[in-house]
Amino acid sequence: MKSAVFLERDGIVNRYPLGQSKPVPPTCVEEFQINPEVIPFISKLRSLNLKIFVTTHQPMLATGDLDRRELERMHQIMRARLKIDDVLICPHETSDPCPCAKPNTGLFKELEHQYRIDMDHSYVVSDKWQDAAAAHSMGCVSLMLNSPWIGNGHRDYLMETLEDIADKICFLHQNQTVMMVG
Ligand SMILES: [Zn+2]
Repeated sequence: MKSAVFLERDGIVNRYPLGQSKPVPPTCVEEFQINPEVIPFISKLRSLNLKIFVTTHQPMLATGDLDRRELERMHQIMRARLKIDDVLICPHETSDPCPCAKPNTGLFKELEHQYRIDMDHSYVVSDKWQDAAAAHSMGCVSLMLNSPWIGNGHRDYLMETLEDIADKICFLHQNQTVMMVG
C-alpha cells in the first residue's frame, strides 16, 4: 500500500485572489495563481515516493457562479505545472448534506479505495479546519498552514510555511518507513 499527501487546493496549491478577506476561490483562469512555493514542496514530497492528491470544495459550481469548463481549464494548468496524481472536487452547495464536502471524508475515501492508500501513514495539508477534522476522522496526520480559518479543533501540526511542512513530513515519513521495515 502507498502513502499519500492530500492537499487542499485553495490556499495551498493556488493563492486567493488579492484583496479578499475570506477564502474566495478563483472563478476564472486569470484569477488562478499557482503558489510558487508549492512547486518545490511537491518535488520534495515526490522524492519520498508519496502519491500527491488535491481535494477541493467548489460550491459555486452548484450555484452557477463557477463554470465547469473554466474550472477544468484551471485544473489543466495545475496539472501541467505540478506533478499531481489526481484531483477530486465536491461540487455541492455548502447547505447540501453531501458525503464529500469536508469535514466529511467522501473525497478521501474515494482516493483511498481507488489508489489503495495506507491512510494511517498519509498526510493532509491545508489552511482550513475542515481538512484537519477530515484527517482526524480518517486517521491521517494533519499539517496545517497557519491562516485566519484554521479554527480551534484537533490538528497534529500547525506550521508557518510549506517548507516547514515538507520538512516535517520528511521527518515523519522516514521514521515511519524505518519502523515498518524494522
Ligand atoms: Zn459534495
